[in-house]
Amino acid sequence: MLNIDIKRTNNYKPKPNIDDSLEFGTVFTDHMFIMDYTSEDGWKNPRIEEFKDISISPAAMVFHYGQSLFEGMKAYKTEEGDVQLFRPLKHIKRANSSAKRLCMPQINEEDFLQAIKTLVDIDRDWIPRKRGAALYIRPFMIATDPSVNVKPSTKFKFIIILSPVFSYYKEGLNPVKIWIEDEYVRAIRGGIGEAKTGGNYAAAMLSQQKAHEAGFSQVLWLDGIEHKYVEEVGAMNIFFKIDNKVITPSLSGSILDGVTRSSVIDLCRYFGYEVEERRISVDELEKAACEKRLQEVFGTGTAAVISPIGTLKFGDNIYTINSSKIGNLTQKIYDTLTGIQSGKEKDIFNWTQKV
Ligand SMILES: *Cc1c(COP(=O)(O)O)cnc(C)c1O
Repeated sequence: MLNIDIKRTNNYKPKPNIDDSLEFGTVFTDHMFIMDYTSEDGWKNPRIEEFKDISISPAAMVFHYGQSLFEGMKAYKTEEGDVQLFRPLKHIKRANSSAKRLCMPQINEEDFLQAIKTLVDIDRDWIPRKRGAALYIRPFMIATDPSVNVKPSTKFKFIIILSPVFSYYKEGLNPVKIWIEDEYVRAIRGGIGEAKTGGNYAAAMLSQQKAHEAGFSQVLWLDGIEHKYVEEVGAMNIFFKIDNKVITPSLSGSILDGVTRSSVIDLCRYFGYEVEERRISVDELEKAACEKRLQEVFGTGTAAVISPIGTLKFGDNIYTINSSKIGNLTQKIYDTLTGIQSGKEKDIFNWTQKV
């Protein structure tokens, strides 16, 4: 059990109008959680205080060598006014496995959950009720040793901030256009692609920008060695429905083990679909698209939940999927998953936890 010191703010901020015009992740609540780590004492001084700027040394290692990790999960308000988290322990376990890969300290799972629940409870009035809206929870850890000497840091800060969000995509659940990247790569096996860490995003920005400028919303990454097999999309895992089977790239070591991905696999099997986790090449996709067997494509991730994909571009070839309309399975998964998250559908898998 953490003994959290709670200092409430004296100046509560006005809450924004949560509608489609709110840009994802740009507004933050009144409070944040912080605790500090040293290798001698472990985690100490857990506290909740006003959301405000923090002060750290310009030499803090995170600025120079990128030792950092983050998580992204959501809290939802049900029609009855209850607040619930979606699979928090899976996110917590993943944070600890990112920490392991990056030489960062573990956080006790129960303490981590207690920190989230206490903070969300204090700022519960910020949670929007609108369908598709939620409170985005961003826990993160940074290396704070004031040193430009390259070595694992001995001091860290763990912080949780909260952001009320509407739907991730301004256009709503309309199918997006995806650029299959055949020049740059995001991660390779043996690297840090499996960890949820800033470096992977830094590696992705240039392609992302190129794709945006060409009118595409995200990049689909290929494997870093052969540039042949599909990995994942920006901040989402990817699914294909081909010949009525659901296929998603297996966790090869260079892609993120998405909580939404895992939930979608369970749901598809529950719906009676055969699900294959395996390598899938762009060749196979192009062939399936040409033969009209590529029925649906969608991305999965906490931020967007489900994002239907209507167009895939590979080199000079452009493939339109399901006439750029959302597919039946995609819609059904979106409805079921958001229904469970918001408490409108029965939680058959026991995925939600009340705050
Ligand atoms: C967070 C993330 C995902 C999605 O994971 P969820 O647990 O479903 O939110 C996918 N890919 C990358 C690179 C990510 O950082």
